[in-house]
Amino acid sequence: MSKIILVNGKVITFNDKNQIIEDGAVLIEEEKIAEIGTSSELLNKYRKDVTEIVDAHGGIILPGFINAHSHTYSAFARGMTLEKELPTNFLEILQKIWWKLDLTLNKDDIYYSALIAAIDAIKSGTTTIIDHHASPNFCTNSLKTISKSLIKIGLRGCLSYEVSDRNGEDSALEGIEENIRHIKWCDEKKNSLISASFGLHAPFTLSNDTLKICTDREKEFKTGFHIHLAEGQSDVKDSKRKYKKSVVSRLKEKGILGEKTIAAHCIHLTDDDLNILYKTKTNVVHNPRSNMNNAVGVAPIIEMFNIGIRPGLGTDGMGMDMTREVYTSWLLQNHNKATPFSFSPDEAYQMLTYNNAKIASKFFPLKLGSLEIGNAADIIVVDYKVSTPLNPGNLFSHLLFGSENWTVKDTIINGKIVMRDRKISTINELEVIKKTRKLASKLWERLKNM
Ligand SMILES: [Zn+2]
Repeated sequence: MSKIILVNGKVITFNDKNQIIEDGAVLIEEEKIAEIGTSSELLNKYRKDVTEIVDAHGGIILPGFINAHSHTYSAFARGMTLEKELPTNFLEILQKIWWKLDLTLNKDDIYYSALIAAIDAIKSGTTTIIDHHASPNFCTNSLKTISKSLIKIGLRGCLSYEVSDRNGEDSALEGIEENIRHIKWCDEKKNSLISASFGLHAPFTLSNDTLKICTDREKEFKTGFHIHLAEGQSDVKDSKRKYKKSVVSRLKEKGILGEKTIAAHCIHLTDDDLNILYKTKTNVVHNPRSNMNNAVGVAPIIEMFNIGIRPGLGTDGMGMDMTREVYTSWLLQNHNKATPFSFSPDEAYQMLTYNNAKIASKFFPLKLGSLEIGNAADIIVVDYKVSTPLNPGNLFSHLLFGSENWTVKDTIINGKIVMRDRKISTINELEVIKKTRKLASKLWERLKNM
């Protein structure tokens, strides 16, 4: 049995009591956390029979972060030249950038962009992603391709394919089959790193007929759906115009919402819409940096907290660093209200820690996102010296500002050390980068000729 001990660190648990252990240690047995205590306690007990000791050198040891809404394929858009006529609104951003890019993705692009996204995740301390994928010209087995990439590097991921009518009926049906194929593959393989949701692009690119097929097929597996919701005004207006009802009412009526469904963005919503999301226990995921990048508006996160919705946090393809995302969420909500302290660091970190943990744990056999005995051993060691007092009461406001000055040193996922002293141990990072530079450049050429 593999036994790893992490020692000499301040252990931050993100458990219900927000417990912090000075000079703490964590014992990992196989895929799980087996014991938590002080370094001297655990070393005395287990020094003789451990496989490996990871020394935090006085840094901090904390649960790996979860990215509750990502798109690995966006990794190849880094530095991509845009058309001369720039998009002027969100719909044009989709039409001129993302829907063109996803049409050009081939198998190698999908595999290697997922590897790059995974490297970024591991290096920034993100150990689980809930991904949403689209590649209409390489749809069948696209999720298997991403799975292979994540298994190779050792990142945990819940994957889904974005069903959409935007490329015609055949393409939508192929997307549905890809979700089903992946769900069955997960059921059969039971790989603890990979799980499935049922992906849907967004209400405005999905007809009622297509939604009906999706809910009929999903019933057998009860995976829930992963969908973009009310990200742009266009989504809200489309529903009013075509169906004479709010976009949230429509999804509720069609059986899309529920406690395993993830609704990313949720920006342009009325109080009634928010109440429906609350009552259906739908998992809302906030993506502040993406929303600011696309200039689509600010999600009513404070209002959600007020009525009892507990939103999670994702990057929506804007990198993988969740500490940047949470910092931005805090800045954005306060700036938007034009009143300081409208939104507290505790609330911002609640999205990243407790809420993301609750959402992601629905898709994996072991509990994620906190250091507790029996939970999945997804743990990061951060090179960060605590220069001001840190205790359960000020933990989140400390981390909010402190994370700007830290480096993730070691990353452990599913009980396996995937990065040690900044070096990824499961792949040859330089070889991968050499390959992706070539692939991305070819993809950009294809895009120019579209
Ligand atoms: Zn998205």
